[in-house]
Amino acid sequence: MNLVLFGPPGAGKGTQARLIQDRHHLELIATGEILRQEIKKKTPLGLQVEHIMAEGKYPSDDIILAVFKKRLSQVKDKGVILDGLPRTMNQAKKIAETFKELGHEIDAVIQLTVDEDKLIERLSSRVTCEECGRPYPKDFPFQRVEACSKCGSRSFSRRPDDEPEAVRTRFKVYNEQTKPLLNYYAKQGLLKVINGMKSIEEVNQEIEALLEEMQVLTRKSGCLYSAQDI
Ligand code: ADP
Ligand code: ZN
Repeated sequence: MNLVLFGPPGAGKGTQARLIQDRHHLELIATGEILRQEIKKKTPLGLQVEHIMAEGKYPSDDIILAVFKKRLSQVKDKGVILDGLPRTMNQAKKIAETFKELGHEIDAVIQLTVDEDKLIERLSSRVTCEECGRPYPKDFPFQRVEACSKCGSRSFSRRPDDEPEAVRTRFKVYNEQTKPLLNYYAKQGLLKVINGMKSIEEVNQEIEALLEEMQVLTRKSGCLYSAQDI
């Protein structure tokens, strides 16, 4: 199963991606997180994208696609969750081609819908684990959290692109370049809309219900094939 988590900055993609990953043993491909690690390590790639990302702009499609392909080649035939990509039509088409070449496809694009006021509130209070990128909200009892529940790291920080000016740029770029993809995926019957305004647990339950429904459908069509075979 290959999933895309789709939505504006702060919609809850990273949060939900990590929950789905834990439960379904899918590999996470979060290009933003991979690039943030490159920045932290001061690699040539990191230095190249650091300023672009801090401003809230997108690195070039070539960079994103190279990062995606490299990560995909590491996960072999396991299913993946794409968090934060594709973000442009060109990326979406190239990613579809890449899956096709490998005999795979995207099974669903899960759109998390959240009002803009709420997005701003979440981003202005987001703190992320410096090691694995797991996001935590402001109202999380940080004083009592000694270590990241995912990787055990004890260092947390605010992302530079969560500063108000970068957030404004990110919304603008999202609306111009990324939002049009919704129509592209809807036409293919892949788009599943989830209300991302609810609590993290409730959103997760809705996604789980959706995945369950999809798996039931897959099993049913599997039966149909075996009946024909007989
Ligand atoms: P994205 O990856 O879409 O940019 P994140 O998963 O990082 O979004 O979530 C943005 C912020 O909002 C984080 O601080 C996260 O902990 C918090 N958050 C995510 N989902 C919810 C939710 N359903 N309700 C409240 N806060 C949430
Ligand atoms: Zn962590």
